[in-house]
Amino acid sequence: MSYSDQLHKSQYAGIGMTSDRTRKRLIDQLRTMGINDTNVLDVMQSLPRHVFVDEALASRAYENTALPIGHGQTISQPYTVALMTQTLLNKPRAKVLEIGTGCGYQTAVLAPLCTQVVSIERIVKLHRAARDRLYDLGVRNVVFRHGDGFAGMTDYAPFDGILAAAVSEDVPPELIDQLAIGGRVVMPVGRDARQHLIVIDKTSNGLVQQEIEAVRFVPRLAGLG
Ligand code: SAH
Repeated sequence: MSYSDQLHKSQYAGIGMTSDRTRKRLIDQLRTMGINDTNVLDVMQSLPRHVFVDEALASRAYENTALPIGHGQTISQPYTVALMTQTLLNKPRAKVLEIGTGCGYQTAVLAPLCTQVVSIERIVKLHRAARDRLYDLGVRNVVFRHGDGFAGMTDYAPFDGILAAAVSEDVPPELIDQLAIGGRVVMPVGRDARQHLIVIDKTSNGLVQQEIEAVRFVPRLAGLG
């Protein structure tokens, strides 16, 4: 049995069968774009993205694009979700902090692949909707919090992985403090059109940083909404 089979891979099977073909087309597209982690592809194949967007946009849910989710925010592009998840999970990571729950799609991709996910969202309506949606999908290993994700979550630290879905001009030191030795951060850094996805590994000898590729994310928000 593969890693993802053991870890409730089939958790989402049977939901949204009608979109199976379009979803498969999306997975094929991700594969040609360089996503080769079969655990990530399997989970995205079985996860119905259309339940994360407004009904009016459901027919576009399996296009490889970001879509609006209200409150000026977007569900990330499937390729970006796949790339970030594959990059974060270059090895198994038990406890992961996600910053920017949004509609909860990225959260639902991470959940079957980790032991526990702590997901923080700054906009209370998005936080509540994502929490209820994932509950309905049967996800039980996510702690949802309303707050500023860039401050981390000290009660659950240290984390084996940290992933952010909103861009910040720098990497907050709080996040590095809350990362376990051997842990990895994947997040966009920069501003406006000049943003890069970066990876930071925390080793016993210090931090190792790499730049992955140019990206476009919504900005990090201050204050609670
Ligand atoms: N992966 C999510 C991405 C949503 S967009 C999805 O696919 O739906 C980024 C999200 O980060 C938005 O929901 C936004 O409200 C949230 N966000 C922005 N600044 C934040 C902060 N300081 N703390 C927590 N969440 C934040």
